Amino acid sequence: MIQPYPHLLAPITLGSVTLRNRVMMGSMHTGLEDRFWNYPKLAAYFAERAAGGVGLIVTGGISVDRRGWLLPGGGTMNSRADVIHHRHVTDAVHAHGGHIFLQLIHAGRYSYHPFSESPSGIKSRINPFKPKKMTHKRIWQVIGHFARAARLAELAGYDGVEVMGSEGYLLSQFMCKRANKRTDEFGGDIHGRSKMLLEVVRAIRTALGSSYPVMVRLSLLDLVEEGNTQDEIITTAQALQAAGTTVINTGIGWHEAAVPTIVTSVPRAAFRSATAAVKKHVTIPVVASNRINTPEICEDILASGDADMVSMARPLLADPAFVQKAAAGQAARINTCIACNQACLDHTFSNKRASCLVNPRACHETELVYSRTPSPKKIAVIGGGMAGLSAATVAAQRGHDVTLFEASGAVGGQFDMAARVPGKEEFRETIRYFTEMLTVTGVKVELHRRIRAGELDGQFDDIVVATGVAPRRPKIPGIDHPKVLSYPDVLRAGKPVGGKVAVIGAGGIGIDVCEFLLAEHSPQPLEAWTQEWGVDLQSRTPGGLVPPVQQKPKRQVWLLQRKEGRMGNGPGKTTGWVHRATLQHHGVTMLPGVEYLRIDDQGLHIREGGKERVLAVDHIVVCAGQDSVRDVVQLGSDGKPIDKKFHVIGGADVAAELDAKRAIRQGAELAARL
Ligand code: NAP
Ligand code: SF4
Repeated sequence: MIQPYPHLLAPITLGSVTLRNRVMMGSMHTGLEDRFWNYPKLAAYFAERAAGGVGLIVTGGISVDRRGWLLPGGGTMNSRADVIHHRHVTDAVHAHGGHIFLQLIHAGRYSYHPFSESPSGIKSRINPFKPKKMTHKRIWQVIGHFARAARLAELAGYDGVEVMGSEGYLLSQFMCKRANKRTDEFGGDIHGRSKMLLEVVRAIRTALGSSYPVMVRLSLLDLVEEGNTQDEIITTAQALQAAGTTVINTGIGWHEAAVPTIVTSVPRAAFRSATAAVKKHVTIPVVASNRINTPEICEDILASGDADMVSMARPLLADPAFVQKAAAGQAARINTCIACNQACLDHTFSNKRASCLVNPRACHETELVYSRTPSPKKIAVIGGGMAGLSAATVAAQRGHDVTLFEASGAVGGQFDMAARVPGKEEFRETIRYFTEMLTVTGVKVELHRRIRAGELDGQFDDIVVATGVAPRRPKIPGIDHPKVLSYPDVLRAGKPVGGKVAVIGAGGIGIDVCEFLLAEHSPQPLEAWTQEWGVDLQSRTPGGLVPPVQQKPKRQVWLLQRKEGRMGNGPGKTTGWVHRATLQHHGVTMLPGVEYLRIDDQGLHIREGGKERVLAVDHIVVCAGQDSVRDVVQLGSDGKPIDKKFHVIGGADVAAELDAKRAIRQGAELAARL
């Protein structure tokens, strides 16, 4: 067989270890690393990725001491007692032929506790705690703690360490004038500001000799004011090489940056040029990162010489067998990360265990198990949206005889609409994945089959009702006026929409509709994206920030909700601000606290702040939530199906807060039990 991804699958040597391929599972906090009793779960999570063929895994950040904790009680590597727990992890990865590095972190002013510390005691805008300025003595102590943690990592069986020097944590705080106003040897010009990072590398080298792999995650684009320029970054990369660094990994943007770096609307591989710029000036390997999610992109980055390895974290949560499938020529079977952040980073930032929207087994490998069934059953799944697809494919994978009935001509449900929203093109990948898996697992699919109540009686052992939702039609006088459109009219049916539009409802779909009505391109080309967000990928200015190019609004749009207060709170913690900023770039008028009075030829009449006014719009798009559709099943007074062979999941079960994360998880959990 011709090797489909020759560069991706080529081995590479990093110091004392040779990796089987160029795929690195980048560091990502899961929440499991913070409690020692979760280490067997953490081991199972990493073992599955190692079994799936990934070349190198980097753990979530482990603090070198308690003041460097991300959160009180976070994972540490500062005593021999920690080593025992980490052994679970390293043994599990090695058993599958993988390699694993421990990421060493000190959070500096991002530490979420009152004893945080930083170069100059300057508070970050994303943390309520004001850090203490580190003394000269304390700086050397922390350098020693990095070396101690690296020694313990080696003892725990880790094949190397990654020093976290990006994303705005302590070492990148030292690197940038933004957080470092020191006048001693650890401040001043780039040589002084990079001294702490370089001393950390030298201390680890002294502790562990010349061949133990030391990777540094270096911020190659800070995306904050008073960040570094490309010249300063290259100077540091060269100094790191001279200090004995084995490999440089790419970090993009501080956590407090006002530019998105990983959400789905960021173009794929947007930052590869930042990695390529550094690679030209060093001889050690360099790793590319951020918004890399398919083997094709990985191969392209490596083949073009922009990087020596590729780092993906979320894509390996989404599919632990990413590498194995790519190597077997089965890339279409990869469950692609859609960069939604809904179950991974949104969980992490809410102190919940991470998982994955498209793969609910992620971080739950020991709890959600798709074992082969000893007694295969005949199962009907009604509805080919996310809940139905998840239930059907998992049940069939377990050996059940599954038939999926879908009323329309294609599977995908709400995702089919989401994928049409500019910036959400990735959602199409999930439909592609499930479509492929229907074939692979042998699900019989009947399209254009609207099932009536009672129609399947006596034919199946279990019937899964995943019939989804219908858009809610609010009782506003004039709601049947021709100016009124539903969101499926706009997103799915492509009905023409005029130049002035009012959108009723500012949940996730209201925002999606605004973005659909305003975007010039789908997907947005990289150049247009950098212009909109004010990014200079060459970092000719500090932090790579330049004035954004003003967007010319394509339409005049009003986004409305009845509730008072901030709008657009629906979408997750790590994505909501991006959507709100996008709407602002396009001049959307946001009106909270309105009352809808009537719709007529003049437009939408509202009451706002006690005063009546009319929005003279061409169209009103209704995005007022949904109601469950479950007329194929008879429910008892407890809301549960009377006939126990029926199982209601997804939006058909609960329409409020309908979301794909719950739908896919509910489908998988049900199918794992059937
Ligand atoms: P939603 O988030 O529940 O929002 C519904 C909106 O309609 C609210 O703004 C609500 O605000 C308004 N509304 C509710 N009842 C109304 C009524 N009777 N008359 C007028 N307005 C009414 O629902 P959605 O936007 O349809 O989204 C559905 C699900 O998909 C949500 O769980 C959402 O999180 C998810 N989703 C997520 C994303 C994402 O990017 N993460 C994107 C799309 C969808 P008021 O009641 O204040 O008027
Ligand atoms: Fe990717 Fe979304 Fe899964 Fe996170 S939750 S790994 S962003 S698909």
